[in-house]
Amino acid sequence: MNRAITKALLDHYDREHRALPWRGCSDPYRILVSEVMLQQTRVQTVLAYYDAWLERFPDVEALADAETDEVLKAWEGLGYYRRARNLHGAARLIRERPDGGFPDTYARLRSLPGVGDYTAGAVASMAFGEAVPAVDGNVRRVLSRLFDEAKPPASWLRWKASELLDAERPGDWNQALMELGATLCSPRSPRCGACPVVEWCASHRAGTQEQRPAASVKAKPKKLRIELAVLEADGRFMLERRPSQGLLAGMWSFPEVGVGGSVLATIAERGLVATAHPAALPLVEHRFTHLHATYEPWLVTVATPDEGEGRAWIDPATSNDRAVPVAQQKVLALAHGHTAVASADPGALL
Ligand code: SF4
Repeated sequence: MNRAITKALLDHYDREHRALPWRGCSDPYRILVSEVMLQQTRVQTVLAYYDAWLERFPDVEALADAETDEVLKAWEGLGYYRRARNLHGAARLIRERPDGGFPDTYARLRSLPGVGDYTAGAVASMAFGEAVPAVDGNVRRVLSRLFDEAKPPASWLRWKASELLDAERPGDWNQALMELGATLCSPRSPRCGACPVVEWCASHRAGTQEQRPAASVKAKPKKLRIELAVLEADGRFMLERRPSQGLLAGMWSFPEVGVGGSVLATIAERGLVATAHPAALPLVEHRFTHLHATYEPWLVTVATPDEGEGRAWIDPATSNDRAVPVAQQKVLALAHGHTAVASADPGALL
């Protein structure tokens, strides 16, 4: 049965697969970039970044040579920025390998930062033809349905994926399984009528496909309210570089008001002088993986902008080369709009 499933799905993949820029390529760097970008991110979103990234960092050497700011800026808007820092770290590690070559086995790839079981399996099979499975969320759903397994443990998934693997075409096979999960075997309303493996699908027979895999109980995201001091001087706004560890590490954001602190105290701590009372801007909501943040921005005009280490004054009307997280970009746009209205008509916001 396994051979029949494998053949039917591979034939279908050969006929129907979507043309994506990373398909049909065996360059491990390009495959790694696509796989890291696709983690927790939709294909459509990645398509808007992939080519631009490769133009800027065409190979491991170019990425390894880049500054962190440049890497984070190129990733700006893709979210989960740790992925960019890990990719950067991986490029630097690869460059330092004694033979200078790209790690060419699952085990060697697994030792790179940010490369887990799935990514190592995907790159090893697609770039080097190693017969290893690659189990992502799509593959988990397909296997769970194909064998009507409600709560498939990781070891079972790996075993089943290995059993079905086509040893001659492991890269295509892994992509065929993922493609089935991304297209026909979708989380809701799978299109079983068009599925190439429907005749072997146990959950289709049992009518349980929509309940497979069983929904897991997810922890509720923690809620956090963060006051921001949005400092403006001469039409520019002050951003600070975030610490190199933790949330949004190394990116640029507005100063946060510490617990029990105040906006004016935050300004004074930075040696700046407010020339007006803080004005409340609209709240900005943003969801991180395990966190739901509500940003509460306060706009304050300060005297002369003071440059300093880890500090930048941004003119929102011109492009800047610093990586600014999406929520902070929204705050910047709100602050810019507010000051533009205020300077055009000083009474409009009273
Ligand atoms: S028959 Fe339906 S549930 Fe089964 S693998 Fe195909 S699309 Fe998924």
